[in-house]
Amino acid sequence: LLTLAPEETDEGILRTCRGLGEFYRADRVFLCQFEDVSQQLKISHEWAAVGVSPLQDSTTRKFPLLPQAVATLFEGAPSVVLAADGEMPPALEFLSGLLSLQAKQSLLLAMVYRGDRMSGLLGIQMTATANPWTPQRINTSELIANLFGSALARNELLHSLTYQAVHDQLTGLYNRHKLESFMDQEVARCTRYGSTFSLVIFDLDHFKSINDRFGHNEGDAVLAGVSALMKEGIRESEIAGRWGGEEFLIILPETTLDCALPVADRLRSSIESHRFSIPERVTISVGVAAFHPGDTPHEIIQRADAALYSAKESGRNCVKAAF
Ligand code: GH3
Ligand code: MG
Ligand code: MG
Repeated sequence: LLTLAPEETDEGILRTCRGLGEFYRADRVFLCQFEDVSQQLKISHEWAAVGVSPLQDSTTRKFPLLPQAVATLFEGAPSVVLAADGEMPPALEFLSGLLSLQAKQSLLLAMVYRGDRMSGLLGIQMTATANPWTPQRINTSELIANLFGSALARNELLHSLTYQAVHDQLTGLYNRHKLESFMDQEVARCTRYGSTFSLVIFDLDHFKSINDRFGHNEGDAVLAGVSALMKEGIRESEIAGRWGGEEFLIILPETTLDCALPVADRLRSSIESHRFSIPERVTISVGVAAFHPGDTPHEIIQRADAALYSAKESGRNCVKAAF
């Protein structure tokens, strides 16, 4: 589980639930997790024995159960066992309704931690006349719950690292490294299929003076605001990124120069008319270039850059095309 690729972890957890269920001859083994924002508990993985109807399919219900209530129930122990004939603790009312434990059934719940954060519960439901929860079984279940927690935590970390590797921290846009790789892909695709794409590159006007007069933090806020307008203004298929300090880039797949120019001008205009946190208009100068057959990524960027330079020369706050 701890060496699986992130996209294989779910399958690995399911396999482990099944292995555990078959080994214990259990009725059901499931993992439920607290959702990040709502803190509702949701069944994320489940194995059910033949003849036992799975909960996951029958219910998309989520349970508003605060981790705090669960913590109280566990009283610091890593697991609890609930029996059909025992009282269901109020914090777990939802489970009694859901599982409706029958006579001779019991349920072991083991806490799943991600790092030091309680992130869910491993549940094992069994039917047995004698108490099936020997110390060894409880230990093993707790170990598996720990393993699930570690696998989930590792996945979360990998996701966050992958995200950080390709995104700019301040703006949340793609970073230069990722933009370069998108450019390579686009050029390869257009060369192969004889299609085209356009590149929009822009630079904030007199940004140094904004920093000088309002401070670097306000400058950063302007950059974040510009990025937000950029994200609002593009379609799903279009790619927006931060090319460098106060320079941004948009890749418009399947777009000719003629179609890219109005997109660029709409963005220019939306930034010009936006009220940022500083008491002053912010404007951008924009260069647009389209892919020519035979272009390398470097060549098309150079043309767009030259067009941007010419927009600056023409007095800024305008869009220029490279032909
Ligand atoms: P022009 O209209 O010719 O583009 O003038 P300009 O002042 O924008 O151009 P210049 O390249 O001289 O200045 C860019 C400034 O952007 C300088 C740099 O300190 C600032 N800058 C670059 N990255 C960041 C950043 O992440 N945050 C802030 N606040 N400022 C940045
Ligand atoms: Mg610049
Ligand atoms: Mg500038």
